[in-house]
Parts: sequence; structure tokens; C-alpha cells
Amino acid sequence: MFQRQERMIALTFDDGPLPGPTNEILDILSENQSRATFFVLGNNVTKHRDVTRRIVREGHDIGVHSFSHPNFQETEIYEVYRELIDSTLLLEDLLGILVKYVRPPYGFSTAETQFLFDQIGLQSILWTYDTLDWEILNAEQIASNLLENIQAGDIVLLHDIHPTTIQAMRIAIPKLVDQGYKLVTISEWLEVQENPFK
Ligand SMILES: [Zn+2]
Repeated sequence: MFQRQERMIALTFDDGPLPGPTNEILDILSENQSRATFFVLGNNVTKHRDVTRRIVREGHDIGVHSFSHPNFQETEIYEVYRELIDSTLLLEDLLGILVKYVRPPYGFSTAETQFLFDQIGLQSILWTYDTLDWEILNAEQIASNLLENIQAGDIVLLHDIHPTTIQAMRIAIPKLVDQGYKLVTISEWLEVQENPFK
């Protein structure tokens, strides 16, 4: 149980898992006694089961990011349902856990898709700090922006598919820990704060 006064940060990694970069992020988190949350794509999970298992085995949270990364605002609702159900069941069968969180691709949803999330039992988790790591693609820049702008309680958007993001985490994670931040999973984060994205 975490206390409100603790300086918590929830790092979240979308679009994986990919064995190379995701394993490296897991190494960095483990070296720094830190945890994070991974919003995975069903397409990648089917191809990379070992690293998917490792995420959960090492105490991180896993949520769905859809199966194939469509924009939910431009997708028929039955297709959105398939995307969610297929990726959720895939994870639950593989890992023997209950999947509780969804991050819709691009953060895009509608009232209809939000209703589906509720029906399936998925809480939608967006972010409060966007690193723009997919666009910046420069490790030092991503790390220095993050270290300069981050605040206690932030949920940070990252992607564990870019080598520059991994390098940025090599720089930033030890520094955040040194500064007294506790890097937590979304479940740990929600123990002390309300989900602001409901
Ligand atoms: Zn994504």
C-alpha cells in the first residue's frame, strides 16, 4: 500500500511487447526496483509470448491496447468489441490473470466504446504526461524533457518499441529513483488516487 505523500509516478509502455526493447525495459526496471504498466497489442502477444509472461512474472501490470491498433473512433462498434475481447481473452488464457485496464489506441474513444469498456470490465487509463517519444526519437531529449517536467502523480505515456525510448529510460529511471520518486504500476497508483479518466 502506497501513501498519498509518496512521490509516485506510473510509467506506461504502449504498442509492445517486442522481445528486444521490452526485455531491455524490464531489465532496467528490475535493476532499479521499479514497476510499470504495459498496454500490449494482441498481435504482438501472439508472436512474443515469453516476454509477455515475463512482464507479469516480474510484478508489472499488463493491460490491453487492442489487437491491431485501430482508431476506435473510426471503427464499427462490433469490430471494437472483437479487438477488446480477442486481446483480453488471449492475455487471460496465456497468463491466468484478470485483465483490468485498457488504453485505447491514440487515446481515442467514444461514449459507445466507453460503454463497451464498462461491459467488459475494463477501466480506461490515459495519461497525464506525454513524452512524445515516438516523434522525438532522441534519447537525451526525451529523458531531459521528462526529468524537467514530470510531477508526482503523473501517468507517463511511452512506447516500448523504439530503441531511443529504451535509451531514454536508461538515463531517466535511475535519476527519478534518486530523486525519491517511486515508480509504480497502475494498480498501485489507483490504490491511492481516483481514476481521472472515467
Ligand atoms: Zn499505441
